[in-house]
Amino acid sequence: MTAAGPGPSARFPPLTGVTAMLFRRATTPPEVFPVTRSDAEWRAALSPEAFRILRQHGTERPGTSPLNGEKRPGRFVCAGCGTALFDQAAKFDSGTGWPSFFAPIAGAVGTKADRTLFMTRTEVHCATCGGHLGHVFADGPAPSGQRFCMNGAAMAFQPRDLSDG
Ligand SMILES: [Zn+2]
Repeated sequence: MTAAGPGPSARFPPLTGVTAMLFRRATTPPEVFPVTRSDAEWRAALSPEAFRILRQHGTERPGTSPLNGEKRPGRFVCAGCGTALFDQAAKFDSGTGWPSFFAPIAGAVGTKADRTLFMTRTEVHCATCGGHLGHVFADGPAPSGQRFCMNGAAMAFQPRDLSDG
């Protein structure tokens, strides 16, 4: 047992001011998207249904989107920021009543774990504006085996201009 007598009086001063700030635990910053708007700006720019889905993680009723039956060549773009998300060539009829794709355009979407509704799903959002698009499941067709189950109201369709070559 060592003697615990009064030691040298070299005590460290408490951390204050700038020093305390430097040692504060770093927090994870929220994901920042290239296109960012306030809720009020989004509400003004979007239809009520698109706002509910894109900005409030809503889901449209199945079978309600005209994009379900869209079969022309072209691209499905984000209703929020116009970024091309999916090509018609990757669309398939999943029978769910939601526009479904086996792959997104490279780099167009991001994903994160969604633990709402008592299950763990993978949420899909626009990589440019962060708008919620739908979910991706592992029961899709070849070649990817993935099923991107999207809300039609979160997207718009741009037919390919065939005169464009
Ligand atoms: Zn977007």
